[in-house]
Amino acid sequence: MQKLMKTALLLLLSGLLFGCQPTAKEYHTTLLSFGTLIDITFWGVEKDKADSVIKKVEKDLQYMHYAWHAWQPGPMGRINTLLETTASFSANPSVLAPIIKARELAISSDHLFNPAISKLIKLWGFHSDELPKGPPPAATKIKKLLAQNPRMDDITIKNVSIKSRNPHVKLDLGGVAKGYGIEQIINLLINHGIRNAIVNAGGDLKAIGRHGQRPWRVGVRDPDNKQGVLATLEVKEGESVFTSGDYERFYQFEGQRYHHIIDPRTGYPAQGTRSVTLLHANATTADAAATALFVAGPKDWQRIAKQMGITAVMLVDDKGNIYITPEMKTRVSFITPPDKLHVAIVD
Ligand code: AMP
Ligand code: MG
Repeated sequence: MQKLMKTALLLLLSGLLFGCQPTAKEYHTTLLSFGTLIDITFWGVEKDKADSVIKKVEKDLQYMHYAWHAWQPGPMGRINTLLETTASFSANPSVLAPIIKARELAISSDHLFNPAISKLIKLWGFHSDELPKGPPPAATKIKKLLAQNPRMDDITIKNVSIKSRNPHVKLDLGGVAKGYGIEQIINLLINHGIRNAIVNAGGDLKAIGRHGQRPWRVGVRDPDNKQGVLATLEVKEGESVFTSGDYERFYQFEGQRYHHIIDPRTGYPAQGTRSVTLLHANATTADAAATALFVAGPKDWQRIAKQMGITAVMLVDDKGNIYITPEMKTRVSFITPPDKLHVAIVD
């Protein structure tokens, strides 16, 4: 609930910031799905048509949320139970498709994006709508799960058959589901003849077309100021903007902060990064890459970005440094010029 309030505030803030008073040409609605508010804006679409398309969008979002849920019963739950047997079985194609994509993205991230570590994420207490209160899990338990070494390349897929050679693989698509969902929704909009739209799930978004005479504009959240905007960005046609941040889901225990992005190499919340924002044409790739670069951290993100084909990145580290690629630098306008801005190349 707290997250929803924050998102609502952010949306309100970006509205104020850009003076987005709905005009006759603008259609705007907010849906609740994937545990977040999803803000959808169309430009130049008749209200009746927009309303009927939004009904379809809502239905699709509901289904995707149900089908991919990491800890509630449903198609993904069934897959997770059957993967444990290490035998081959038929999977629901609507869940198989994101798994195939996630497997490819895990491999190109050197498994820093690793949706097979569901057991670790559960151990940390993040398989709940409520935030955990701590204490953090015992080191022995973390070590045990790490030794099981679940990875996406343990999985093989042939047509609709899937199996895992490792019984400890359990899937949590939380690091990519929003991206995959947004990509599906944008395709649905295009198929219904919508040309100008933005689908924004709490700052993770994809845009098509333009906002009338100007491009779509969005705010990038400041990891140090929950309601604040660090920079603004003009989104090109067909572009996605995704952010992974340590402020999204976390808890404090005895003065220590524990967040929801787990480093699959250590079994602990990834260290050194506060947030990663990046651009890519494909929302699924953007979502997985933001999680992967967050885990890679200030020293290794450029290598992983290159492998994943990401060239516009901004990473804020835990010392307040902002690392930015030349391409991203030309795209953002900082609210306050940062003093610790470092240009870093992904070649
Ligand atoms: P995001 O906000 O896109 O970075 O996704 C964070 C979510 O992805 C978490 O809430 C977990 O469900 C899941 N997750 C955590 N760590 C990882 C990881 N290293 N690789 C893939 N998914 C992860
Ligand atoms: Mg992600």
